[in-house]
Amino acid sequence: MYQAFLIKYGEIGVKGKNRHIFEDTLVSQTANALKLVDGEFCVRKENGRVYVEAQSEFDFEEAVEALSHVFGIVGICPVVLMEDEGFDALAERVVAYVGEAFKEQDFTFKVITRRARKNYPMDSMEVSAALGERLLAAYPKLKVDVHTPKVTLHIEIRNKINLYSKTIPGPGGMPVGSAGRAMLLLSGGIDSPVAGYMIAKRGVKIDAVYFHAPPYTSERAKQKVIDLAKILAKYTGPIRLHIVNFTDIQLSIYEKCPHDQLTIIMRRYMMKLAEHFAGEEESMGLVTGESIGQVASQTMQSLAVTNEVCTLPVYRPLIGFDKQEIIDVSLKIGTYETSILPFEDCCTIFVAKHPVTKPNLKSILKSESHLASTISAQMKQAVETAETIRVEP
Ligand code: ATP
Ligand code: MG
Repeated sequence: MYQAFLIKYGEIGVKGKNRHIFEDTLVSQTANALKLVDGEFCVRKENGRVYVEAQSEFDFEEAVEALSHVFGIVGICPVVLMEDEGFDALAERVVAYVGEAFKEQDFTFKVITRRARKNYPMDSMEVSAALGERLLAAYPKLKVDVHTPKVTLHIEIRNKINLYSKTIPGPGGMPVGSAGRAMLLLSGGIDSPVAGYMIAKRGVKIDAVYFHAPPYTSERAKQKVIDLAKILAKYTGPIRLHIVNFTDIQLSIYEKCPHDQLTIIMRRYMMKLAEHFAGEEESMGLVTGESIGQVASQTMQSLAVTNEVCTLPVYRPLIGFDKQEIIDVSLKIGTYETSILPFEDCCTIFVAKHPVTKPNLKSILKSESHLASTISAQMKQAVETAETIRVEP
């Protein structure tokens, strides 16, 4: 019954002179998302609106599913587009629409008409009132309620006449690619995929880096991270994932540094390496799944010591989230089930029983000096042997 969608977007609408840039990004992101759906689509903008029009048979559910992953979209309205063939023809279509779109015609409703084209022979109020009457005549159980109607029928008189009554919520945010690039430190846990989702939601294109420690971590742990990136890619588009072998660095830290400082020192080297890959891709920041106080390495003191090695800004979109709030998002975006698979993480293998919660930078630097003879070569080796894969949605 529907051949098109009207795409509603929120914040882009207030972008003033740059608005067209955001709209163009939304159009291209929408078109990309629909490439995964059976059917041919044309995505275009017209007078401050974005339309998706099917050019062939298509799977409605699949199309809605794809659109509901495109950041920037606030609402997805299945819309009927029709030529203006006079008011009677319009009224007939509206009556037929209400017959088809709803199982039973026994609800309260109102009609809202907008005229983008002022040369239409009736004004908006007249169109709404006349359509209301026709509907009441056709379906005696309908009732008008102008304050809290169950159904609002929108009629927009544009080049074509638009008729819609349903709005499926979109994910909101800004279209990916409208706000630069960042490098996500992606582990197999619950938090970092959510952090990647949150930052991409604001229009940031993400790449990712994962540190593993074979043979202490398994192929399955690595596959889990690839799977998580694949889920994220449904929202962000293809992700370049750098898989870095961290074993030698981790073993050196384990041998030469106090065990209560292992995690924090390890995290600092991860950040340094992540910055290297960020630099290769002109990323403007790092992204982690840290949240204040969640574990010893995420106290304010630990975060400060971790941050100290970074020259790029580090974005921590979950910083004020409770664990349950993070879990709620991960359930919503579909990463939770994969995140909780029980494969070992490189950090959990070498953890200390009693990690420092208030690390002191001087003391950390002193411990790190024990690595001086080997660490540069090991970092170089880690960069050179990294495997980069393009993860498609
Ligand atoms: P997550 O659920 O994201 O793994 P976490 O609660 O387990 O987070 P930590 O293990 O302390 O927290 O890690 C903090 C952050 O450091 C992670 O959110 C992630 O951004 C990054 N990180 C940790 N381990 C790795 C790894 N092996 N590869 C890439 N990034 C990592
Ligand atoms: Mg983790």
